[in-house]
Amino acid sequence: MEISRRNLFKWAGFLGAGLALPKVVKAKVLTPKEKPLPYLDSEVYKPAVCKLCPALCMLQIRVVNGSPVGVAGMQGHPISQGAHCPKGGAILQDLYHPDRLRSPMRQTGPRDSGQWERISWDEAHQILHDKLFDLIRRGKPEALAMLAAPIRDIRHEIQKRFAQIFGTSNFWEWNWPLATGPLDAFKTMHGTSEGLFYDLANANLVVSFGWDWLQSFLSPVEAQRAFSLLRRARLERRTRMIQIEPRLSVTASKADEWISIKPDTEGVLALGVAHVLIQENLYDKNFIVQWASGFEEFKKLVLKEYEPQKVSEIVGIKTDQIFQIAHEMASIRPALAITCRTSRFNQIAVHSLNALVGSIGVKRGILATEAEKYQLTLPPLSIPKPKTEPIASLDGIPEAILAPSSSPIEILWMERVNPVFLSPQPAQWKKVMEKIPFIISFSSFLDESSQMADIVLPPHHSLEAWQYGFSPTLEGHGVISFAPPVIDPIYNTGDHGDFILGLAKSLGQRFASAFPWETFVESLQKAVKKAGADEPMKKGGWWEYQAEIANIASTIKTGSKKIKLASEALTSVVEGAQDPSHPLRLYIHVPMAYSFGEGAHLPYLHSLAGAHLGEQWETWVEIHPYTAKRLGIADKQEIWVESLAAKIKARARLYEGIREDTVSVPFGLGHTALGRYARGIGSNPGELLSSEMDVSGQIAWQRARVKVYGA
Ligand code: SF4
Repeated sequence: MEISRRNLFKWAGFLGAGLALPKVVKAKVLTPKEKPLPYLDSEVYKPAVCKLCPALCMLQIRVVNGSPVGVAGMQGHPISQGAHCPKGGAILQDLYHPDRLRSPMRQTGPRDSGQWERISWDEAHQILHDKLFDLIRRGKPEALAMLAAPIRDIRHEIQKRFAQIFGTSNFWEWNWPLATGPLDAFKTMHGTSEGLFYDLANANLVVSFGWDWLQSFLSPVEAQRAFSLLRRARLERRTRMIQIEPRLSVTASKADEWISIKPDTEGVLALGVAHVLIQENLYDKNFIVQWASGFEEFKKLVLKEYEPQKVSEIVGIKTDQIFQIAHEMASIRPALAITCRTSRFNQIAVHSLNALVGSIGVKRGILATEAEKYQLTLPPLSIPKPKTEPIASLDGIPEAILAPSSSPIEILWMERVNPVFLSPQPAQWKKVMEKIPFIISFSSFLDESSQMADIVLPPHHSLEAWQYGFSPTLEGHGVISFAPPVIDPIYNTGDHGDFILGLAKSLGQRFASAFPWETFVESLQKAVKKAGADEPMKKGGWWEYQAEIANIASTIKTGSKKIKLASEALTSVVEGAQDPSHPLRLYIHVPMAYSFGEGAHLPYLHSLAGAHLGEQWETWVEIHPYTAKRLGIADKQEIWVESLAAKIKARARLYEGIREDTVSVPFGLGHTALGRYARGIGSNPGELLSSEMDVSGQIAWQRARVKVYGA
């Protein structure tokens, strides 16, 4: 029974009358069936740092009688600015989730058997200590691999330092390709991706090649802020947005123009645009002469292979539209061409346009910030470089481990990553894990990858432990945010930083002297003190550093000191293989609720993911009404989506916002683990992908061909 103010008055009157009721009726009617709400003894608002994505917004948590009950954005915080995204709004569901792990666990049956026993933190420590010590004794430090979430804080640094001291170069950050900018293009063309960012908030023209950035930007809060600045902040100059994408996404629906191309052809289109810019002498010659290398080879390739008529057939738009994009990019200066990290070919082709129109190193274009240097760091340590090179790139790990007869990795240490779900062909990663002798996972839930671990250690929730994090703002300024624990840990969870410090002490003097702190908090306090910033640390708060925006020269770390127009990475990709038995293209989209493929364990996020079609709690396939009619598929019918690799079941939804030759499936559902609200709900389109790589050795996320038919 809910006790509202109105009910209370009603009951007050009834209670008066009730004095005359028989005793048995009094007992039934007047004895509350549920406990009344407790008195509001205390109500406080506590600061917190949200760690559900790398944006690291600060929140205010409403704590009533010692329990967190409400969430709001922190007023004035440079990232959250009083707001939070839906994921931040679900942080209490994450905290109170009934399937959160409550204690360290050891798998007692075969991997993925689901047979677990609780163990103590000391036992977990001893098991890992013995395994690591064995590698040290055998002189095989490179047999330890670490996979970490890309959150910039001191725990992350502690983990990285541990890998360095151990002597392994097999430390990878698990980035989310569909939600990250074109880091590979930046690295190839600038020799570094450090500090480079799109000046989205000030742009004049944003041409987005296949990035639904309003949904899947690394920081959803920043994306929304950028959009409001683009649209409402300057009455005298309205930013023009062109969205190039196979599907009418949220960004496409808000853009001035939506150009619907075939999936995975963004790079081809970009080179068609480059063709027009060069052919019509519309490119920025001064910029190219001063700042770019490899232009002649690039020009030769583009003029020979990417003629607009040919490109229009490959990408599926009119030739005129290619000229139009080129003319707009040449006339609205500086034009900003943006893309996400789906394929290195696409990234490099798109970023080449920024070089051609001279948008690099200028306001409203691509800038570089020195904000990173304001991060709090551990004191520097001279650590010799590991003797061996990493076994592979992140995408190359499956091949590197599956190809040899025994795995070169003997211990895999995962920290809040789930490759068995978050990679194309999850089954492939499962095989990888089967081959690795020992796996440890720091995770709050038994997700697909933790199910394959030998030991799972649950970290404190971000509201239960000291938090520090660094994140840059849209404008390239640095923000460091702190918060003390909002509450004491509810369960027998632990601190990842403390666990590593304890291990280091037990592994010998070399390790112990690299980690001279008793606890993670002590290391944080020292870093804070060194930065002269004790005050915010005491009660939670932040600093914003007005970082210098680097000049163009400092964005380039190539040997030639010029931005490399990398033709060799662009030569061979023109069109994916045709397959008449799988005539449709698959386009995977990423709703904000699941933008990193995570979030399906939180009911609130389920209810938001497919709002445009009224879909929730299941996987749907967007299919054009003409295509559906041709194939005899009705709206809301259950269908199979089948590729050469696998087939998944989903609900057909007729949607005019998808190309007739393409179907689109959201990414984030289809878990086989991750708790009661995720397990068995929907299907994972990642299973439909092959392990096909693009020319650069990067997995092609949008290249699958499928057929669909009634289930
Ligand atoms: S943008 Fe990221 S850090 Fe901010 S509230 Fe959302 S999930 Fe949390």
